[in-house]
Amino acid sequence: MTAQNSTAAAPRTIHNARHAIASGEIKAVALAESYYATIAAGDANIHAWLALSRERALQQAARIDQMVASGAPLPLLAGAPIGIKDVLTMQGAPATAGSKILEGYLPPYDATAVARLEAAGAVLLGKLNCDEFAMGSSNENSAYGPVHNPRALDRVPGGSSGGSAAAVAANMAVATLGTDTGGSIRQPASFCGVVGLLPTYGRVSRYGLIAFASSLDRVGPFTHTVEDAAILLGVLAGHDAMDATTSLEPVPDYAAALAQPVKGLRIGIPEEYFAEGLDAEVRAAIEKAADALRAAGCTLHKVSLPHTRYAIPTYYVLATAEASANLARFDGVRYGLRAADATSLSSMYRKTRDAGFGKEVKRRILLGTYVLSAGYYDAYYRKAQQVRTLLTRDFLHAYTQVDALLTPTAPTPAFKLGEKTDDPLSMYLADIYTVTANLAGICGISVPCGNSKEGLPIGAQILGKHFDEATVLRIARAVEQAQ
Ligand code: GLN
Repeated sequence: MTAQNSTAAAPRTIHNARHAIASGEIKAVALAESYYATIAAGDANIHAWLALSRERALQQAARIDQMVASGAPLPLLAGAPIGIKDVLTMQGAPATAGSKILEGYLPPYDATAVARLEAAGAVLLGKLNCDEFAMGSSNENSAYGPVHNPRALDRVPGGSSGGSAAAVAANMAVATLGTDTGGSIRQPASFCGVVGLLPTYGRVSRYGLIAFASSLDRVGPFTHTVEDAAILLGVLAGHDAMDATTSLEPVPDYAAALAQPVKGLRIGIPEEYFAEGLDAEVRAAIEKAADALRAAGCTLHKVSLPHTRYAIPTYYVLATAEASANLARFDGVRYGLRAADATSLSSMYRKTRDAGFGKEVKRRILLGTYVLSAGYYDAYYRKAQQVRTLLTRDFLHAYTQVDALLTPTAPTPAFKLGEKTDDPLSMYLADIYTVTANLAGICGISVPCGNSKEGLPIGAQILGKHFDEATVLRIARAVEQAQ
């Protein structure tokens, strides 16, 4: 059985799940069970799930059913079955971050994003596969095996949140959480044909997120529709005393903002994002999305982000530097794996880290340690910080001329499993359109905008100003409606 066969029904959204539960059409427990049945039937081919949290999910679903029975008002996400990327903690469920080094680790607390979903009525189905410590663009770096793209099983789902994107695409969850440090929500959303939202840095709490690069990491949703992304962002966003980088900026009603027409909005087309290396079918699909926005009353403008060509090297200096520091805590003392055959403390550290980390993670720890080391810090790390400021200014300047930007999410549709695994540089280059938003701290979204001739999904990326998710969502909705 292919994924498509097991998921032939129209996808259920947060909106209609709540409606079906409120009207008594389906019980929340039955809905949760139906998702577990879909997972049992389809996940052998896809491998999106690393752990299921059945008991917790069914308890929560029963709670929702009791609320319906007693006539209590239903929370916004009542009964919505949602999956969580395995870099976020859920009390009592294993958290591996896709790594052997965290095998057996049971976090004693919920991430804020996870707790907020559950407090809003969501039914948390379990934990989703991802690249090890969220380092990758294809999910092939997971220590627990790759995820297959539900739209074409011989293709990657994208990464690092590949399980999160695939689970939504295969109707194994109504929505999921992912994280995006350099594209890990938007690129897999584009490869799997779903919506993926990158909130502004500071909009959603990172408390309980197993850190990769703390100045770049964001938590955000994968959904079937732009409306569901707006609903989830409303639940997730806002200040959290447990994450000092969260903003006090008020949280607007994102779902209500979708009702405002896009007429009159100025959309920038950054010329650097349409240069060589862009697949012709992707280019054509983005041009069609631009036409749809023009037809909806937007005006389109050429803009320039002149430092774009420095984005990949800047990202791979800063992200690896931060990763080398963040990953120092995994040494066999407090969490997960500990090498059994160590003879001293330092051999325990060495053997644990050697056995526990995969190849890509080791490569990044080495790179990150190198760029931070005495004598190289000024040449690499400090220089990259300076270029980061230039990249941010590029966006701020563009946003004096336009309200948002339209670009491809990725230069190609989903590539084949194994196609880039021997060439880390070509894998890094696939992040070319996404890493800039993380470096600049701005928000963005990937929304499906067509398929290649082979039937592979293509995503359009809309990038917005800091804390202007509402405009990004409105534009994405206009692209969605034109499909
Ligand atoms: N593909 C990028 C990397 O490998 C981005 C990963 C991410 O956003 N977590 O670092």
